[in-house]
Amino acid sequence: MTTVLTGIAVGTGSVTGPVARMTPVPPLPQPRTVADTAAETGATLAALHDVVTDLESRAATAGAAAAEVLAAQGMMAADPVLAERVAELIRDGRDGAHALDAAFGEFRTALEAAGGYFAERAADLDDLRNRAVAQLLGLPMPGLPAPGHPFVLVAEDLAPADTALLDPTQVLALVTERGGPTSHTAILAKALGLPAVVGCGAADTLTEGLPVLVDAAAGTVQLDPAPEVVASAASREQRRRERAGRVHGAGRTADGHPVKLLANLGALQELSGAAAADCEGVGLFRTEFLYLDRAEAPGLDEQTAAYRQVFDAFAGRRVVVRTLDAGADKPLPFVNAGDEQNPALGIRGLRTAARDPELVDTQLAAVAAAAAASSAEVWVMAPMVSVPGEAADFAARVRAHGLPVAGAMVEVPAAALRAGAMADACDFLSIGTNDLAQYTFAADRTLGSLAALLDPWQPALLDLVRMTAQEGGRRGRPVGVCGEAAADPLLALVLVGLGVTSLSAAPSCLGEVRATLSEHTLEDCRALAALALAAGDAQSARAAVLDRTG
Ligand code: PEP
Ligand code: MG
Repeated sequence: MTTVLTGIAVGTGSVTGPVARMTPVPPLPQPRTVADTAAETGATLAALHDVVTDLESRAATAGAAAAEVLAAQGMMAADPVLAERVAELIRDGRDGAHALDAAFGEFRTALEAAGGYFAERAADLDDLRNRAVAQLLGLPMPGLPAPGHPFVLVAEDLAPADTALLDPTQVLALVTERGGPTSHTAILAKALGLPAVVGCGAADTLTEGLPVLVDAAAGTVQLDPAPEVVASAASREQRRRERAGRVHGAGRTADGHPVKLLANLGALQELSGAAAADCEGVGLFRTEFLYLDRAEAPGLDEQTAAYRQVFDAFAGRRVVVRTLDAGADKPLPFVNAGDEQNPALGIRGLRTAARDPELVDTQLAAVAAAAAASSAEVWVMAPMVSVPGEAADFAARVRAHGLPVAGAMVEVPAAALRAGAMADACDFLSIGTNDLAQYTFAADRTLGSLAALLDPWQPALLDLVRMTAQEGGRRGRPVGVCGEAAADPLLALVLVGLGVTSLSAAPSCLGEVRATLSEHTLEDCRALAALALAAGDAQSARAAVLDRTG
């Protein structure tokens, strides 16, 4: 009997491969009395040394960004002061595992107290301690698996820190127990071009090495598929890839109506892939990655250098920079107060600028300096804009920095309801359907259990897109979509029919969107949009459009 697990579909590809699970953190055993202190010290320091060697060898073969993280971790673990403290704690009567735990804990406290760069690295020490303890106890290494062959990564969920180390040449697909359609992991999977199924509650039953067929379009994971099932999925995948690669160049409908196809960019590791992709620029440059894992904001020079890298890679093309969107699903301890009862409804996104104007001003100054030295067409937009006054203030601030084009993201229903005034207040609008769905349906975007409400085919969400696009269109203002909705080729037709002028998605998704657009006229798109709007729910909206496009 075939067993098929279901979850939330992320992307459109499919792949078959063996499961490799994220290894859990080893639990600390009960403390024990050490009879032979010298032997205990020797074994414990040897375990620490093995961890250093392992990190160094992985750094030697990893990509640039991962190599940097691994090498920095290796240096920390090799600190002789740390080894000396471990030995001292064992001499004082602790067993090796508890000595490691205590020594790393002390180092962590010291780093946090030092502030700045050192405090930013404090979390790495937890990972090192876990590795050293696992090595000492003979347990599997915690964190990302490295079975030595390509695998389907199965995890409860992925933390942003795991993702810097994820090797896209080894990971075939992602399956996670938790996560929603627009959660961090889903966005990451698309950025890496990996088929994924998230919110797959039964994924905990997937055992190491088990072959599985992950079908991202269907949101299914088939256990131990028969050879003929694998072969037919592979030929379907081959056809999908051929179709995605068939049409090139600027996005347009079958009758030549232009629709700008832009890339979403969320980390410098994605830059070379995005720059090489067939796209007209970046429609959403998420700048939060620069601020993650930090105790304070990066300085002007560091930010300028990072933006310069992006603008240079996109010389002559458009780059839409989204200013810092801290809070809720993207928390930053030095920006967001930890005492809010409802962080998604709290001081987040542009709202943080009122409390801490220097944060956004430094960022704008860095963007302006980098833009001045580059031929990229730099636009800037603010996240979480609720009322037209905020959009006007932001636009004035952007212009004061010498940046000519300022926009507002439409992510809050109030912004869509007043899209006309919003468009009057700035130069362009960009609809963030991930948050717009969250706030329209009062449904936490990170919760897989609310995926049905967060479905971007929800007619109520499409109503808000229509209102925004219409009001922007009346004023000649561009209105793009940069949420995950833009990555769905069929929904892209509907969005264009609603009046959206650009679509921004992970580069891996643009080929299929481009091919689908090229097969339908603007009139077709308008008719499809009318069908979707008339539907009673998300499922029937999707089914009606699928039925008509055949
Ligand atoms: C959105 O909310 O749709 C969006 C594009 O921004 P983010 O996913 O980064 O919140
Ligand atoms: Mg958002």
